[in-house]
Amino acid sequence: MQVVAVPCLKDNYAYLVIDAGRAVVVDPSEAAPIEAALAANNVTLGAIWATHHHWDHTGGIADLVAAHPGIDVVIGATDADKVKVAFTRTVNDGDEVAFGSLRAKVIHNPGHTLGAVTFLVEGCAFTGDTLFCGGCGRVFEGDAGMMHGALMKLAALPDDTKIYCGHEYTASNLKFAAAVEPDNAAIATRLAALVTPSVPSTMAEERATNPFLRAADPAVISAAAAKGSQPDPVSVFAAIREWKNNFK
Ligand code: ZN
Ligand code: FE
Repeated sequence: MQVVAVPCLKDNYAYLVIDAGRAVVVDPSEAAPIEAALAANNVTLGAIWATHHHWDHTGGIADLVAAHPGIDVVIGATDADKVKVAFTRTVNDGDEVAFGSLRAKVIHNPGHTLGAVTFLVEGCAFTGDTLFCGGCGRVFEGDAGMMHGALMKLAALPDDTKIYCGHEYTASNLKFAAAVEPDNAAIATRLAALVTPSVPSTMAEERATNPFLRAADPAVISAAAAKGSQPDPVSVFAAIREWKNNFK
């Protein structure tokens, strides 16, 4: 299996997941860069997996299906009716999605959207706008408890899990992380070494540096307390998410 990041729009990533000359595309926001990447890698399109319904993750699906009729188009069950796309399959937590010899596991991550999912395949997690490198997505449809729960589910993945997220927001995410934890050397080191594209990161790096996975850490609890938060993880998560929403 090979993963190719395909920059789309302003700061989105779609991904080709290539197996035996065929590719899945994850989160195609537009078709043209995907067609170019398929051609450049000499692979045919076999399926589309969408992490959630937002247009910047699904906008290219109709054109790709028109050009590659009959392919599977997969999305989380709760998100399927929120966008006008003829999905061929909707998935729930724990479902398996097959592609050639690959078997992806679906992890339901409600919070950014109610039907958001991560596709986990061969140690690679396609997290969409739930977990970003160094950050997380905004809580649009769920609540802080749901989003924190979703992130904790991902944080339980092995250290070497590769994180392929939906946007290149890593620099601004890590600047915020450094504001939350000015004494966290791992954040400073990661920020100093940052290159673009920043994907993939690893779950070990995320657990060490991503404040949204660290709501039970004493330093993050005390930073949130300074913003008026109670010390429980969901309150801490909610406080730093709110802080990040207004952080420049
Ligand atoms: Zn997005
Ligand atoms: Fe989104």
